Amino acid sequence: MIRAILGGTFDPIHWGHLRPALDVVQQIGADILHLMPSAQPPHRDYPGATAQQRLAMAALAAKELPYCAAEAWELEQPRKSYTALTLQQLAQRWPNDKLIFLLGEDAFAGLPQWYQWQHLLDHAHFVVMQRPHTKRHYCEQLQQWLHGVEVQSIAALHEQHHGRVYIAQTPAHDISATAIRNAIQTGAPWQHWLPASVAEYITEHQLYR
Ligand code: ATP
Repeated sequence: MIRAILGGTFDPIHWGHLRPALDVVQQIGADILHLMPSAQPPHRDYPGATAQQRLAMAALAAKELPYCAAEAWELEQPRKSYTALTLQQLAQRWPNDKLIFLLGEDAFAGLPQWYQWQHLLDHAHFVVMQRPHTKRHYCEQLQQWLHGVEVQSIAALHEQHHGRVYIAQTPAHDISATAIRNAIQTGAPWQHWLPASVAEYITEHQLYR
């Protein structure tokens, strides 16, 4: 079984996460897309919604969409969310499956700051999704690393169990959680950036006001 995993703060989850991720799922022929909210985000300030609310929104999004399931794993760990550790543990949980971790170009550019980043590919492939307004600038260290692990096709990704990076062509959606939170505060329209059930949840719980 091929499992795609999209981790993120998801504060809130939006179409900028979901549409490119579903596109990758189809390109790769993955069986499931796990939407996995992170616990205390190591790279940024604390989010606006609680962990349970972020998980609830991911679950609502998953219900509306094919292939998707919300994954509480990182929220249940008594530690910060470090992708290298999470992937190691998920590989133990699903020993017969192939793991594909999805991330946006902006997150990928910051990879050398991640905990044990040289071990990120020990248990999974990484697939990078396009993100508008991201400067395609990878530092020297990342470029060198990429040189040894990048593949140019999905077929090449299928040939190995883990250890490769594929930079995918995905539809560009100029949406961010920050823009959504700002729009809610300023009264600008924002509902069209998320699945309807997630927008309803935000309104009902008066989040980000
Ligand atoms: P914030 O605005 O609060 O920083 P965000 O919208 O960037 O949040 P995150 O939850 O931090 O969302 O992102 C989770 C993952 O999804 C990251 O790998 C990020 O690069 C990716 N991602 C987020 N928005 C997009 C988008 N519009 N297009 C492609 N990838 C995206």
